[in-house]
Amino acid sequence: MQIKRGMEIKESPIAKTETYRNFPMVPRVVFGKNSFDQLGGILMPKRKHSDAPFIFLVDDVFEGKELANRIPLMFNDKIIFISADEEPKTSQVDTLVNRILTEYKDLPSGIVGIGGGTLLDLSKAVAVVLTNKGGAADFQGWDLVQKAAIYHVGIPTISGTGAEVSRTTVLLGPERKLGINSDFTTFDQVVLDPNLTKGVSKEQWFYTGMDCYIHCIESLNGTYLNAFSQSYGEKALELCKEVFLEDLCPSESRDKLMMASWHGGMSIAYSQVGVAHALSYGLSYLLGIKHGIGNCLVFQHLTEFYPEGVELFNKMKERQGIELPNGICANLTESDFDTMISIAMGMEPLWENALGKNWRDSITPEKLRSIYEKI
Ligand code: NAD
Ligand code: ZN
Repeated sequence: MQIKRGMEIKESPIAKTETYRNFPMVPRVVFGKNSFDQLGGILMPKRKHSDAPFIFLVDDVFEGKELANRIPLMFNDKIIFISADEEPKTSQVDTLVNRILTEYKDLPSGIVGIGGGTLLDLSKAVAVVLTNKGGAADFQGWDLVQKAAIYHVGIPTISGTGAEVSRTTVLLGPERKLGINSDFTTFDQVVLDPNLTKGVSKEQWFYTGMDCYIHCIESLNGTYLNAFSQSYGEKALELCKEVFLEDLCPSESRDKLMMASWHGGMSIAYSQVGVAHALSYGLSYLLGIKHGIGNCLVFQHLTEFYPEGVELFNKMKERQGIELPNGICANLTESDFDTMISIAMGMEPLWENALGKNWRDSITPEKLRSIYEKI
């Protein structure tokens, strides 16, 4: 079986020699409301010495907010606030690594990422590059990382991407958007505190939540499906339905979407995403449209591929009172369309998962253009 995720368009070197992939999982996880307040105790035994700080990479939406004051700083620990307005770049990772190496004489005790998929991916990448020779772009691909990363902790503040469980970190590099896929990428510790997702806007809650829903639909309807992926995918789907179609109280919704994200991430670890992700990467590459909303913009037009999934998506969208923007592709040039189509068609494993080995029989540039024109 081929196992690939996200923008990953090249064959994994290990997949050729192993019959089944041997995946790392997050070894420690704490779940519960206000579990964030246990962070100081969790980090304490991991402190190497007083000169080796913890570096907290935190979404700048929390700058000056109560959460920032609850970060358990000691000795020369540092908080670096980072904007999630743009998805993470390899150059941004290199800048952060250089800053940390210049500022401190010892390697940090660890990196703690606090935020959504953007901050979680950045934190994983910084932890990996800090201990390895080279820049982030050198490790984009499969199993190119030679040395274990420094201890790193992921603390999601919005639910849906599954970045908290995955062994990849998706980065926009000089040449390509591609993950650092390695056993060393996975977090050493995750703190799941549903209360941290309290401030998320209705729209963003939906977009990132739908990333999880779409992971489930693409995994469960894919040709790579197996019992491992199915078991996680079905649970995540059930939780998404509860969250977006039933009358749960906000606190229950936060708990359930956080666990849906976890299960959805586990589901695609052993399978692959599909049509929506392939087309969404085209939008992201050309127009910088972010992952969650990009997937929604595409998915609404995929009835042909996922009839039941799209019907349910529309129900959820209506029930949540979400209006997706339109006219996104209205003024694009021929060459713009060609760029997006070529990016999308390059996602071979995604198409193969969605439609089988003969996917090229039905997926043509004209077909993809007709979908992009609707967006
Ligand atoms: P995000 O991290 O980009 O954040 C979206 C918005 O929500 C930002 O404006 C952010 O500031 C805000 N936000 C986050 N938490 C908040 C809170 N508690 N209160 C108020 N605002 C808050 O969103 P995302 O959808 O979680 O992540 C998208 C990224 O995840 C993309 O870069 C994508 O490539 C990546 N991703 C990674 C994986 C993986 O396995 N590594 C999987 C899927 C997606
Ligand atoms: Zn996704």
